[in-house]
Amino acid sequence: MLNKTFLFLICFTINSNQLADKIQNWEIKNQNKVYVQIQNLKTNKIHFIYKNHIDINKKRNIGSLMKPISALVFLEEEEIFFKSKKTYCSGKYKLNEEKLQEKDFETYNIQKEKFHSYYKCSIHNGHGEINLNQSISKSCNFFYLEKANQNMDLFFEIFEKIFYTGKIFYKTQNNWTELDKLLVVIGESKKLKFSFKELVDFYTKIYLFKNEQKFKIVYKSLEEVIKFGSLKNLKLKNEKIYLLSGKTGTSSSDISKHKNQAWNLIFFKIQNETFLLLVFVDNGTSTKEGIEISKFVLNHLNE
Ligand SMILES: [Zn+2]
Repeated sequence: MLNKTFLFLICFTINSNQLADKIQNWEIKNQNKVYVQIQNLKTNKIHFIYKNHIDINKKRNIGSLMKPISALVFLEEEEIFFKSKKTYCSGKYKLNEEKLQEKDFETYNIQKEKFHSYYKCSIHNGHGEINLNQSISKSCNFFYLEKANQNMDLFFEIFEKIFYTGKIFYKTQNNWTELDKLLVVIGESKKLKFSFKELVDFYTKIYLFKNEQKFKIVYKSLEEVIKFGSLKNLKLKNEKIYLLSGKTGTSSSDISKHKNQAWNLIFFKIQNETFLLLVFVDNGTSTKEGIEISKFVLNHLNE
């Protein structure tokens, strides 16, 4: 006898080819490369994958998608990372000149004004006063750089403990500049990048532990991204899908520090099953392109 889940899988498979054709048309029209993956969070089964021109094993900067992960690290040692109770984002995070190296200027998009060097936030004039919750939904770079700067070694130690169990990778990295280390917290370090699988694993962990105190704080912010944040305009025609939470992001591409890659990670429910959708647009100009694909994919699921 066929059970519901089995029927559902069949529906998914039937639509896969059709959906892949549609994504391919989008790629041709927009002259861009796209990666799409839909994974069941309970079974870990990947139900749909589109990767025509994308190397899936390559490690990439994940940009703002790193922020919820960094937030969890900060929450482990609140007394250290939240020493300053309030964070005020001016739009430009002042970098320590003494620790900057010549190669940092070649690698990263550092702004120089008068005698100071800065790393910019997503909003030119800054977010103003910002808390952890808003730092995720509004994607504030300043918040993360300021917090991590309190103790970057401790950041790596905790990060390894929560997400990279048993792999002490950073202590052996003598050739990293201070900025290579610091930019890890906003997913922009050229020295530590992640594969799609690693990224999906991090977010699966956030979802599975979402009822535990610290994870709950972070997960709530991901829910707000759907309600009031960068995914609030993701209105679907497909009534079978219920959007739970998500995160958008852009990161600098490998080709040029001035080019972006767009990311979308969305948790959704369909027929009582929970899935994670990952959309990656290589060389995308903005998160809008990621949202366009997500909308398109979700609207065509299980039609
Ligand atoms: Zn900011």
